[in-house]
Amino acid sequence: MAEEKRTEINDLGEFGLIKRISEKFTNQNPSTVFGIGDDAAVMDCGDEYKLVSTDMLLEGVHFDLSYAPLTHLGFKAVAVNVSDIAAMNGIPEQITVSIGISNRFSLQAVEALYEGVKFACEAYKVDLVGGDTTSSQAGLVISVTAVGRVAKDKITYRNGASNSDILCVTGDLGGAFIGLQVLEREKQVFLENPGMQPELEKYDYLVKRQLKADARMDIVHELADFDVKPTAMIDISDGLASESFHLCEQSRLGVAIYEDKLPIAKATYDTAVEFNIDPITCALNGGEDYELLFTIKQDDFEKIKNHPDIATIGYMHEETKGRKFITKNENMIDLKAQGWKHF
Ligand code: ADP
Ligand code: MG
Repeated sequence: MAEEKRTEINDLGEFGLIKRISEKFTNQNPSTVFGIGDDAAVMDCGDEYKLVSTDMLLEGVHFDLSYAPLTHLGFKAVAVNVSDIAAMNGIPEQITVSIGISNRFSLQAVEALYEGVKFACEAYKVDLVGGDTTSSQAGLVISVTAVGRVAKDKITYRNGASNSDILCVTGDLGGAFIGLQVLEREKQVFLENPGMQPELEKYDYLVKRQLKADARMDIVHELADFDVKPTAMIDISDGLASESFHLCEQSRLGVAIYEDKLPIAKATYDTAVEFNIDPITCALNGGEDYELLFTIKQDDFEKIKNHPDIATIGYMHEETKGRKFITKNENMIDLKAQGWKHF
C-alpha cells in the first residue's frame, strides 16, 4: 500500500480542515435544510426552521482560569452559542452543557460554573435540557449546544447579501482583544510579584468585554421591531475582517469597509495605544467581541440609521472589485484578515 503523505493540520488551517471534513458527507434527510458552513445548522420542522449550534471551550486555549472566574466562563460558554443562533436571526430555546473536569475541581467550582450557566439561561430565556459529564486529564472542557427556531421567511444566512447592500455592525469592536491583553499583562505582573494586586479597575470595560461575552439577542428583537430583515448575517467571533470575508465568499461579493466608520470604544482606543497596538488592527482583527455583522437593503437604511448601537461601516460590491479598506485619507487598500489561529 502506498504510504499517504502526511498533511499538517497547521497547513490546512481551521477552515481548510472543516472543509476537508464536510466534503466527505452528503445529507440524506430532506429535513436537513443547511448543514455545515453557517453559524448554525438549519432543519425543517414544518412551520418553522430549527437551528442548532455547538461550540467548545478548552482551558489553556480559550480561557485561563487564573483570571477567568468560573461563573463568567459558564455564562460565556452559553453566550457564544446563543450568538450563533442570533446570527441566523433566530431565537434560542434550549441548551445542553457537557463538561470534562479533573479532580482539581471541587463541587463548589462546578457549582460556580453552573451559576454562570444559570445566569445565561435567565438572560437569554433558554432552558438547560441535558448534557454530559466526564473526567478530563488535561484541564477543563465545556461544550455547549444551543437549539433555536426561526420563521422560514426570517432566516438569515451568510450567503444572502446583494450588490450595494449596506454593511452594519453592532456595538463596538476590538474591546475583547484588548481586554485579553490587559489580563495577560496583569497575570505576568502577578507571577513576577505575587504580592501585587492586579490593577484592573481602569480597564473595567475591556476586561468585561473579554470575560463577560454577551450575545446580541437584543438586536435580533429590535430589527424585527423595526421590520428590518438582514440580507446576510454572521457573529464576530474571529474578527470583523475575517467574518466579512465569510459574507463575501458565501454571497459571492466584494466589500468596502471605511476606517472612519469603525466603532471603537474610547477605552479600547486608549488602551491599544498604551500597548502599542494599532486600534484599527484591533477593530479589524480582534476576536471574541460577539457582535453581529450584517447587511441590509439600502431601503432599510432610514429605519436603523439613528440606532445608537448599530454602525453602518461599508457596503457590498461586485466580487471583482475585491475586499477593500478605505482609510481615513481615502486610500483604498486591500482588506487583510488575520483572524484567530487556534492551531
Ligand atoms: P462559528 O465561529 O460560527 O462557531 P465555526 O467556524 O466554528 O463557526 O464553524 C463553521 C462551520 O463548520 C459550522 O457550520 C460548524 O458547525 C462546522 N464545523 C466546525 N467544526 C466541525 C467539525 N469538526 N465537524 C463538522 N462540522 C464542523
Ligand atoms: Mg458564528
